[in-house]
Amino acid sequence: MASNAETAGKRLVLIGGGHAHVLVLEAFARHPEPGLAITLVSRDRLTPYSGMLPGHLAGTYTRDEIHIDLERLAQASGARLICDEAVGFDRAARRVRLKGGGELAYDILSVDIGITPDLSGIAGAEEHALAVKPIGSLLEKWDRLVESALAPNGPRRFAIVGGGAAGICLAFAVTAFLRNRLSDAIEVSLIGAAEAPGINAGMRRRIARALKRRGIAVHVEDAAVSIDGDGVALASGRCVPADAVLISTHAAPPPVLAATDWAKDESGFLAIGPTLQILNDEVAFAVGDCATMIAHPRPKAGVFAVRQGPVLAQNLRRAVRGEALETTIPQRDHLLLIATGDGRAIGGRGRFLAFEGRLAWRLKDVIDRRFMRRFA
Ligand SMILES: Cc1cc2nc3c(=O)[nH]c(=O)nc-3n(C[C@H](O)[C@H](O)[C@H](O)COP(=O)(O)OP(=O)(O)OC[C@H]3O[C@@H](n4cnc5c(N)ncnc54)[C@H](O)[C@@H]3O)c2cc1C
Repeated sequence: MASNAETAGKRLVLIGGGHAHVLVLEAFARHPEPGLAITLVSRDRLTPYSGMLPGHLAGTYTRDEIHIDLERLAQASGARLICDEAVGFDRAARRVRLKGGGELAYDILSVDIGITPDLSGIAGAEEHALAVKPIGSLLEKWDRLVESALAPNGPRRFAIVGGGAAGICLAFAVTAFLRNRLSDAIEVSLIGAAEAPGINAGMRRRIARALKRRGIAVHVEDAAVSIDGDGVALASGRCVPADAVLISTHAAPPPVLAATDWAKDESGFLAIGPTLQILNDEVAFAVGDCATMIAHPRPKAGVFAVRQGPVLAQNLRRAVRGEALETTIPQRDHLLLIATGDGRAIGGRGRFLAFEGRLAWRLKDVIDRRFMRRFA
């Protein structure tokens, strides 16, 4: 075991208050590393937990219930929180440039900054749609949408573009929230370019039945090609009329990463190995949606960022102590639970397990609340 002298004066800088970094802070709060100076740079003081986000949009959870207070967490772990944005990385000098004008030097760095929406493939999306990723900026946009929807002549026809798990969750949540407030006067459509990846056939059948039960119109394997004030034009030539469009399609790496000379995958996400270090920089780690484990790529989902948290905490501790690092391989599949907005959920795992009902929703609720209690 390393002595305090080896970690004394070392600077660990965490960029982004994503799912893995909150677990790192929680680990350092439980077991402080004497002499280590930890700094967290985050755009926001509150970070939302993705598992409960659809439940919040549906009106089930309050905003407080789904947010982790980074200031309180930083205090508990003896870290300094800087509410700012990293706008540049100097790998050789081991420095991070901040939007507010400052610079931070580090001995060990970790990056957990999520993704940015990629609207480039859909004409008019920038002007006429609301991008739901990254989730940090979603709630402000959602508040504006709700305000206009509740106005007498507000939008009544909603389209969700993106047929993956997030898009499906969103369609159920939007329907639940708006139907509760506007009765059946609203129409919701879900548009997907392909069948949702990572969702087994049994779950897909249950999801299709639940979408029908909730009156959500579904357009599968028909990509959105353009959006204007009248609605969404699809590749087939059909048009889905809509007054408001939410987009939850694939995402791009945060632009700040483009100028760095860190190793990246073909889409520009940071390329990491099984120790979570960036492939060409042993003092820099990257986790969550902004990174791809090159040998074991997985879909961009919060569950993988959460799983990386404890390993990252351990490896950051080992890196500052100069010890050998642990390796991790992300699981191939994981329990997926999709709330249908009517007190029920659809769950499944791997190729065959699929179930649904009120108990599935209770299970999801218990798992998510248990996660959040760690930060209370
Ligand atoms: C509607 C919806 C529902 C979803 N539901 C689920 C679900 O049920 N289960 C699941 O596994 N996944 C779900 N996802 C996906 C999930 O939200 C993401 O995979 C997850 O948030 C990624 O976590 P992360 O740690 O990589 O980054 P994020 O959670 O996006 O956090 C990144 C943080 O970094 C900050 N940041 C960004 N850039 C900078 C910068 N330059 N400097 C400083 N700070 C910065 C941001 O403000 C943010 O706080 C859902 C997504 C959506 C849109």
